[in-house]
Amino acid sequence: MSLVEMFERSATAHPEAPLIDFYGRHYSYAQVRDGVRRVACGLTVLGVRKGDRVGLFLPNVPHYVAAYYGAMMAGATVVNFSPLYTATELEHQVEDSGTTILFTLTAKALLPTALEVLENSSLQTLVVGSIAGALPPVKSLLFRMFKSAETAPRPADDPRIIPFSKLIANKGDCPMPQIDPDKDIALLQYTGGTTGQPKGAMLSHQNLTANARQVQMMDPKPGTEDRIIGVLPFFHVFANTCALNRTVLNGGEIVMLPRFDAAQVLAAMQRTKVTALPGVPTMYQALLDNPETRKVDFSSLRLCISGGAPLPLEVKEKFEALTGAKLVEGYGLTESSPVVCSNPYEGLNKTGTVGQPVPGTRVRVVDREDPTKEAPDGVPGELTFAGPQIMKGYWQRPDADREVFVGEWLRTGDVGYVDEDGYVKIVDRLKDMIAVGGFKVFPSQIEAVLYHHPAVKEALVIGVPDSYHGECPKAFVSLQEGATIDGEALKAWLNPQLGKHERVGSVEVRLNLPKTLVGKLSRKELVAEERAKAQAA
Ligand code: AMP
Repeated sequence: MSLVEMFERSATAHPEAPLIDFYGRHYSYAQVRDGVRRVACGLTVLGVRKGDRVGLFLPNVPHYVAAYYGAMMAGATVVNFSPLYTATELEHQVEDSGTTILFTLTAKALLPTALEVLENSSLQTLVVGSIAGALPPVKSLLFRMFKSAETAPRPADDPRIIPFSKLIANKGDCPMPQIDPDKDIALLQYTGGTTGQPKGAMLSHQNLTANARQVQMMDPKPGTEDRIIGVLPFFHVFANTCALNRTVLNGGEIVMLPRFDAAQVLAAMQRTKVTALPGVPTMYQALLDNPETRKVDFSSLRLCISGGAPLPLEVKEKFEALTGAKLVEGYGLTESSPVVCSNPYEGLNKTGTVGQPVPGTRVRVVDREDPTKEAPDGVPGELTFAGPQIMKGYWQRPDADREVFVGEWLRTGDVGYVDEDGYVKIVDRLKDMIAVGGFKVFPSQIEAVLYHHPAVKEALVIGVPDSYHGECPKAFVSLQEGATIDGEALKAWLNPQLGKHERVGSVEVRLNLPKTLVGKLSRKELVAEERAKAQAA
């Protein structure tokens, strides 16, 4: 079924149940459905037609939910944009996807960036919401907290800029297009994939509803009592499936938080008696590190799902001991909506594995050099998956499709094996991606910045072990003849130009960098050296 049908079914089954809790303000399924239908109508009046791309440049706020299902109801494909994007990144993705309408907020951190892109790209319309309108009507600390985010000047009388309230000023009763769940693309989800070159994974309605259902099937007690913390950013497909769509399918409630702050998450958990918390390992670590955690009553919490990066054993054990809730590890990638494996919520939880393939999913371990050949049993190889959640392909990138698919099998760029109980263990990664907590960083993007420094001749970036984030980037450079700069100075020059998670722990200057036989710079030797160093330590 389509995501729109899934949403409508839930809203019809329990219209009065709460769907969103935003700092204590509740929005019922019926209220959100009204918003969704009005967004769909407003977009249709603006000229949105089947397959048009509508972008969301939003943190986790109620507008996100209305815009997400509303754009899909109008037949559009949603394009998720990270709210941390710079104008250059935003513009690139707008152009690549052909996004014509973008939802954002009046927030200082978002609106100026969106306005810059409106001037410089083929973007035609900005729909701008205000966070103050979504908060409870208490003019308190809460409001003041967001006040600074409210002061970005909004240009007056620009017909390209439409307030969210104006977009939804209609009855929500327009005729809507038919959706073909299997063919129509619900979401263009950008990812570096295995190469780091950003590209849009085309996820159909069927891909996403299937994955929500697969995640639900892992849960022995899905239901309308579900209250889930929605702090993982919705612009990533992990939160789309495991927080948003899964909750809507269950008829539960999402306690929404626009950004991760351990104290705020704990306060929300205490206030709302949440039952579930999907997160990345660094989030669980940050909660453990917060002294307030010891004072919170976790008796309602039954399920925590970790994904995006390996979950350290110590974090799992300490978190479970402290809260009494189960912390299970799963695994997936953007191209698979994302979940392909999970440890069971009840039953044998094998620590250090990412669990078994979720229902309807098949795993095939293939030879690292030749993905058409299966690897012998128990021998690590590249993990490939087939199932209803696997993307349709990359947006306008048949070349990338040829690299990532072997027939119906999606190559992951992750190396692992299946153990005697059918549990998947990841042991290595073929792709150059670095997992900093759950955030993905690509060496080529940091290297590109380093090459702008006049003293740098060659640059390589790899991931090295980091006790907090699991991994962090480290740069190696060789210098132009006569140049004398040291690693510390290069790091001080480099890091301010990088995103928060991309920042390198150190820059090491070397006479030469390793190369392959054909003279290409090679990261492999550096990875092996750093691993050996870490093991010796
Ligand atoms: P993304 O497409 O950004 O979600 O990144 C997907 C990648 O994250 C996977 O291909 C893995 O390399 C990594 N990943 C996700 N979950 C896990 C996990 N539980 N353990 C190890 N790596 C993971």
